[in-house]
Amino acid sequence: METDALLALDARHVWHPYTQHRGAPTPIPVARAEGAYLYTTDGRRILDAISSWWVTLHGHATPEIADAIGQQARTLEQVIFAGCTHEPAVRLCTELARVAPAGLRRVFLSDDGSTAVEVAVKMALQYWENRGEPRRLVAALENAYHGDTFGAMSVSARSVYTASFDPMLFDVARLPDPSEGGAATIDALDALLGTRGRELAAVIVEPLVLGAGGMRMWDEATLRAIAERCRASAIPLIADEVMTGFGRTGPLFACERAGVTPDLMCVSKGITGGFLPLGATLATDALFDTFLSDDRRRTLFHGHSYTANPIACAAALASLALLEAPACTAARARIEAAHRRGLAALAAHPRVSGTRLTGTIAAFEIASPERGYLAGVGRALGAFALADGVLLRPLGDTCYLLPPYCTSDDDLAHAYDVVARFLDQPRP
Ligand SMILES: *Cc1c(COP(=O)(O)O)cnc(C)c1O
Repeated sequence: METDALLALDARHVWHPYTQHRGAPTPIPVARAEGAYLYTTDGRRILDAISSWWVTLHGHATPEIADAIGQQARTLEQVIFAGCTHEPAVRLCTELARVAPAGLRRVFLSDDGSTAVEVAVKMALQYWENRGEPRRLVAALENAYHGDTFGAMSVSARSVYTASFDPMLFDVARLPDPSEGGAATIDALDALLGTRGRELAAVIVEPLVLGAGGMRMWDEATLRAIAERCRASAIPLIADEVMTGFGRTGPLFACERAGVTPDLMCVSKGITGGFLPLGATLATDALFDTFLSDDRRRTLFHGHSYTANPIACAAALASLALLEAPACTAARARIEAAHRRGLAALAAHPRVSGTRLTGTIAAFEIASPERGYLAGVGRALGAFALADGVLLRPLGDTCYLLPPYCTSDDDLAHAYDVVARFLDQPRP
C-alpha cells in the first residue's frame, strides 16, 4: 500500500493506544524491521531505542524465532488448553520453572502482562479463600504500574493513566516508592503488618525498576527486606517482572539480583523475544497446593481463549534458547557498559538530572517547566530524535533508553548523541 493511502486509512479507522488523536503526530508507517532497526514505507531507517515498548529482546525479525513460529504454525496452531496439552506449552512451562528463581515450579499461561498480573492477584486472593481465612487487602508501591485491566489498574498507582476509573478501582494499601529511600518503604510495611497484617493477602512489587511510573530504580537490599517480611508473615509476594524479566536488568530476572524467590512471578513482554503476545504467572508448589481439593469450588476459574497458544510458546522457547547463550549474556553486559559511557557524558549537562542504570535500562530526567508524564519536553525530544532516525518515547520529562540486545555500541552512542544535541538546542 502507498504510504499516503496507508496513513489516510489509519487516520479514518484506527484507534491507537496511549494516543490523543487530536494533534497526534502522524504515526510512523513501518514496512519491516530487522535487528535494531525499523524501516518505513517511505524509505527511512529508524533505530528502535525502546525495544518497541520493551518487548523486542534480541532484535527484530530474529531468524531463529521466525523459523520456530513458521514451523509451529504448520504443525499445531491452536488448541483448547482446558483438557488438552501439547509439547510447546509443556516444554515452555518446564523451561520457565528451570530458569526462574528456585521454587517457582508451577506455570499458568495467559495473554500479556496485564493478564499475568490479574492471574497473580486472583491466585493470591483465592489462596486465602481456599485456606478458609479470606483476606482482601493487597499492598502495592506508590508509582507502580502493573497494567491496564481493572485489577492491574487497581494495584497500579493512581495517576493520569487511571484517573477516569479511580472510583471503580479496589482500594490497596500503598507503600512509599522505594526509589525515594527503601527505609520508608520497609517502615510502612512493618507498620501495615502491625495494624492490618491479618487482612493482608499479598504484596506486589516491580522488582528493582518501577517502569511506566518513571523508570524509578531501587535497591536489592530493600527488595530482600520486603521478601523477608512477607516470608515471616506467610504473605505471598508477587514480583511483577513483566518489564524486568528475560535479562533486562542483567541476570534473567531482577529477583535474582537480590537472591529473592517470590511466591508469584509475572512475566510477559520479552518472553517471546517480542514476536507474539504471551503472559505467564509462576507460582510455588505451596501456593498451587491450596487449590487442590475434592471441592470443585476451589478451582482457579480463570482462562483465556488463547491460553498457551502453541505458536507463542514455540516463539518463547526459541527466544529462551538464544537468551541462555553466552553471546547474549555478553551482549547485555556490553550494552550496560555503553549506557554507562553515554550517561556519564550526559550527566554533566545542566538540563540533565537523575542519571541511573540497571542492566540494559538507562534513564534520566530533563529539566523542563512541566513535570511528570504530561510534560511536553518528552514529546519534543521524541520528535527531534525521530528526525534523526532514533525512536524514543520519553515518559514526560523522564527519558529512557532500553534497546534490543543486538544494538551496536555505535548505534547506542548515536542515540545518546541525539539526546545531547536536543538538549543543546536553544529553548523555545
Ligand atoms: C507493561 C507492563 C505490564 C502490562 O503488560 P501488557 O502486556 O502491556 O498488558 C505490567 N507490568 C509491568 C511492570 C509492565 O511494565
